[in-house]
Amino acid sequence: MNGPRITIDVDEKPVVLEVRDLSVSYGKVGALHHLNLKINKGEIVTVIGPNGAGKTTLLCALMGLLPAQGEIVYLGELQGTERQVEKLVRQGITLVPEKRELFGEMSVGDNLLLGAFDRYRVGHRDELETMDQVFDIFPRLRERNEQMAGTLSGGERQMLAMGRALMAKPKLLMLDEPSLGLAPLVIKEIFRIIVQLKKTGVSILLVEQNAHVALQVADYGYVLETGEVSLEGPSSALADDPRVIECYLGLPGKPRLAR
Ligand code: ATP
Repeated sequence: MNGPRITIDVDEKPVVLEVRDLSVSYGKVGALHHLNLKINKGEIVTVIGPNGAGKTTLLCALMGLLPAQGEIVYLGELQGTERQVEKLVRQGITLVPEKRELFGEMSVGDNLLLGAFDRYRVGHRDELETMDQVFDIFPRLRERNEQMAGTLSGGERQMLAMGRALMAKPKLLMLDEPSLGLAPLVIKEIFRIIVQLKKTGVSILLVEQNAHVALQVADYGYVLETGEVSLEGPSSALADDPRVIECYLGLPGKPRLAR
């Protein structure tokens, strides 16, 4: 039997996700138009763009939550049109949604365990070990293990949402606006952790309105405007592009995050 064919990029990095000619519509209204995007193993790829550009739509389509036209190739395998969330999670794709979607009446620990539910269902019994690894990444969650998720601060909620996604041991982690609603210092901490996660080998698709921070941590970036990619390139090149500076960065001096 043939296993999945892993596409090798010209620079020899295995391609984790390749999206070709992806279009999504809500009824008759098109939200994404013929989008092409690629994520290599261990890379952070960011999609930046203004409100309503189609960023969340892209993530929902990739996660099988919205019907889409075009091709999605994950780990060398062309995905069928009937993409199911559970199957994608099992294959190693997880999404941290913009609204975090935690179970507020449940403890931090139980929210985390839910992230491992699908692995548990197929026979894995390593959830406590994984939880320990998640606590190493987010020590704040270890301290608040017993606390109800609904009582966490905004930054802690984002940490819990990311921790819960990591409980599924993803190969591709998709983050929808992790900076949303957070104070600058908390954003700095969350993005420091995103860089740390990259070092574990997970590939990250980072959707962000905050182009400042996104371009500082990402390897490659796409600018999405009204459902179309208007610019793409290595993040450092995008951060220096006058069009990006004018529309998304604003200030000539770029604040730096510690890597
Ligand atoms: P934001 O940063 O504000 O979250 P976004 O880039 O994530 O924006 P989307 O939420 O993907 O943008 O929306 C893209 C377009 O699709 C917008 O014009 C939006 O109004 C439209 N849209 C999103 N969800 C729906 C829906 N359920 N039904 C109809 N139109 C929708």
